[in-house]
Amino acid sequence: MADESKLQIAIIGAGIAGLGAAIALKHHPAIDVQIYEKAPELREIGASIALGPNGMRTLERLGVDNALDDEIAFRNKHWKTNEIISTDSHAGQVEYRHLTARFYRAHLQEALAKHVDPSKIHFSKAFESVTFDSAIQKLRITFTDGTTATADIILGADGIHSPVRTFFVPTSSTAWTGWVAFRSVFPYSHVAHIKDLPDEANHFWGPDRTFFISKLGRDLFTVVGSYQADPDAPDALYKDSTWNSDGDVNVLREFYKDWSPLVRQIVDAVPSTRIYPNAAAHPLETWVLGNGKATLAGDAAHAHGGAFAAGGSLALDDAWAFASAILHVFPPERDPKAHRRGNPQGPAHLREDAKAAHGPRDERRSPE
Ligand SMILES: Cc1cc2nc3c(=O)[nH]c(=O)nc-3n(C[C@H](O)[C@H](O)[C@H](O)COP(=O)(O)OP(=O)(O)OC[C@H]3O[C@@H](n4cnc5c(N)ncnc54)[C@H](O)[C@@H]3O)c2cc1C
Repeated sequence: MADESKLQIAIIGAGIAGLGAAIALKHHPAIDVQIYEKAPELREIGASIALGPNGMRTLERLGVDNALDDEIAFRNKHWKTNEIISTDSHAGQVEYRHLTARFYRAHLQEALAKHVDPSKIHFSKAFESVTFDSAIQKLRITFTDGTTATADIILGADGIHSPVRTFFVPTSSTAWTGWVAFRSVFPYSHVAHIKDLPDEANHFWGPDRTFFISKLGRDLFTVVGSYQADPDAPDALYKDSTWNSDGDVNVLREFYKDWSPLVRQIVDAVPSTRIYPNAAAHPLETWVLGNGKATLAGDAAHAHGGAFAAGGSLALDDAWAFASAILHVFPPERDPKAHRRGNPQGPAHLREDAKAAHGPRDERRSPE
């Protein structure tokens, strides 16, 4: 139950951004954080996800040391010289534990969830709308099941298609970029027999498709085949597919049939695959929404469709930035009700205080 004597923060979405923000604020004695998640539980969905040094450092700041552990974070151990075109490079000295790491997404989400009081996560609560209730001077959030919750501040951490973002900025809808990923995660034993299988993560590039492999924690292995179609072509492959739908490994094999023997051997060992059509939206003009009572984090804030495999790290950094801003205005020693005295007038209208900027969608991306 939300504690109304405290500053109430409602986080929409228990993904990486939402859990990160809840962890960053959990020790504040005068802040009550509740997370509302559409899914009925935190399930094992997704494939590999990469975190760069910025994301790894933020995990450490959050105290999520269990996610830095080699057991679930795979870091490249060494380089080979077999036609490598580029390698990860970092400005300055990077400690081993902060090196770019690849996770099975479910392991990362599970590691974060261990730091959140389970009673604060409310499942099967899909955000629908929010209004300002002037009688109680609070936001009233309505979920699709008809129930409501109150809050002083709402953080939309509800992913790339963010209903919170589209509530405040109705013009900010996502569209398919034409890029499709075939993602597979399976036990390493499926590929262990392959001679010359690189020990480090590798990205192979072709003219219209790429191929990515990496070990993951707990003896898992990931393969990501990516294909760039013309999103405007009426007969584009996977145009009408849904995110995380069943894929056909035979199509994957056909896609890479002319590639190097190493790639073909790996593809032959893939037991199953899932389809992830990539979406993106235009950037927003501002992240200050709902007259300062709402903001966004993670993919909801920058729906760039996986540019540079930065989504996971940005989600953590957004969570940290959100919490830092809150702690700056409401340091732990401050009277918890001071925020209401400071801004007694609620917003007359919450919506349409931001527009989607009309730049081109950013279509650079990486599946890592
Ligand atoms: C199921 C799933 C699988 C993914 N798999 C991969 C992957 O394999 N590789 C990869 O690189 N990235 C993957 N991503 C995306 C990746 O997690 C994000 O790019 C990144 O971590 C940013 O995290 P986020 O917290 O902003 O968003 P997300 O991780 O997308 O989390 C958003 C959360 O909000 C919830 N939500 C959505 N709508 C509502 C609503 N109306 N009300 C309440 N809650 C809502 C979602 O269920 C989800 O839990 C996946 C995301 C999801 C949701």
